Amino acid sequence: ATPTALLVGTGRGAQLGVLIKGPEVLEQTRRVDTVVLDKTGTVTTGVMTVRSVVTDDSLGLDSAAALRLAAGAESRSEHPVARAIVRAARTVPAATNVENLPGLGVRATVDGRRVTVGRPDLVGGLPSTLADAVAAAETAGATAVVVAVDDRPTAVVAVADTVKDTSADAIRGLRDLGLEPILLTGDNAAAAQDVATRVGIDRVLAGVLPEGKVSAIADLQREGRVVAMVGDGVNDAAALATADLGLSMGTGTDAAIEAGDLTLVRGDLRTAVDAVRLSRATLRTIR
Ligand code: ADP
Ligand code: MG
Repeated sequence: ATPTALLVGTGRGAQLGVLIKGPEVLEQTRRVDTVVLDKTGTVTTGVMTVRSVVTDDSLGLDSAAALRLAAGAESRSEHPVARAIVRAARTVPAATNVENLPGLGVRATVDGRRVTVGRPDLVGGLPSTLADAVAAAETAGATAVVVAVDDRPTAVVAVADTVKDTSADAIRGLRDLGLEPILLTGDNAAAAQDVATRVGIDRVLAGVLPEGKVSAIADLQREGRVVAMVGDGVNDAAALATADLGLSMGTGTDAAIEAGDLTLVRGDLRTAVDAVRLSRATLRTIR
């Protein structure tokens, strides 16, 4: 009867929009007590838009020119920040020597100039106009990205994302099942806190680099927790594999989908709640 019930559970999961890699995954799902959620693309839509561009005029580039160079450097990146910058630029020049720095940004040669786009701490040495722009963007809950041209900080681009309308419901559902949600992101603390408040998450781990996501999961496991990780990005793949249960967004990258034990086909977080309920119901049948 055991394998039959598991098969039925797996089939029922597919109907709910949850693809389960193997019958043993249901047992893991039932044991979970902590759910770590990636922010961008998991709790939020992952579709970012440029809110503002502030330039330091001592370098003689206006915001359109800065955005154009940034878009060139970002043109081959699939990161939500990159997509937003490319959409906002009027023209996108070709780039060479493109270097992707996961969780940090990108570097490339555009128009014969060395262009860096990424986290403020990737660039450093910001003039006060740009440092103020970073602080203002982050206070507003946005993500501030610095554009440096020939290693000189030139502009700050503020990008922002929207919370999925299903996220707050999903978080409430996880709590009702007795699970603790934790938000984990490479983004800045203020943007992370803003999203956490909107969806009802109390615990936030922000500014975490891709390797740091793995150690964050391992730390929680060392506390004796059984940890599920939900993510969508290339930068989440290692954390998904480390977690006791990896849930990938079906709308996310192939790397995340491969690393997960379970896929939320429609990218709807509420189906994670359905998966936990299903695992409990299925394994109750077995006993
Ligand atoms: P998350 O954990 O929210 O999915 P990431 O780890 O992918 O975020 O990225 C963390 C931060 O690094 C972003 O908030 C952004 O500031 C910066 N970053 C990452 N990739 C890029 C990129 N291609 N262009 C600009 N900034 C980037
Ligand atoms: Mg993500």
